[in-house]
Amino acid sequence: MPYKSKEKRREYRREYYAKNRESILASSRERCKQDPDLRRRRRESSQRWREANREHNNAYNREYRKRYPHYGVIPTRIYRKNLRLKVIEHFGGKCMKCGFDDWRALQIDHINGGGRKSFGKIRPSPVYYHNKLLGETPGVTYQLLCANCNQIKKHENKESSPCYNPTDKPSKLALRQLHRLGMKV
Ligand SMILES: [Zn+2]
Repeated sequence: MPYKSKEKRREYRREYYAKNRESILASSRERCKQDPDLRRRRRESSQRWREANREHNNAYNREYRKRYPHYGVIPTRIYRKNLRLKVIEHFGGKCMKCGFDDWRALQIDHINGGGRKSFGKIRPSPVYYHNKLLGETPGVTYQLLCANCNQIKKHENKESSPCYNPTDKPSKLALRQLHRLGMKV
């Protein structure tokens, strides 16, 4: 077997799908268009699979409900807000720089920059992300900052968009033009 374990293979496939989602879906749509019966055959095949794996599916669903007890019960909006409040409390409830404590403008900051990019191309769902944060030690990788302090930190560390933090030097022509317009570099 080319993969060390079933889990490895599943993990690889999941990443592959996340990376190529658009093209996979597009080609699937294309195939359905060329073969109008394909959709029905696919549906029947997955129905057969569900019948054959009923026990497995039920066990999976039980596990899922245990992991996400709110699912289908509590409105997502309310669940997410409460989860966010929990995360904020976990991280000390106030901005680590200035002490601002209104949850509406508090943000989780990735201390060394990178933020969600640290997940690679996979975009975590807010629920997944916040649950992961609850397992983090405050002040190690993540900290709580208010929107102002976070924005200022981004500028100081050049984490913000290249439009605000140009890495390339302006040309002589650009410098002359800037001078003429009374602008600073
Ligand atoms: Zn602050």
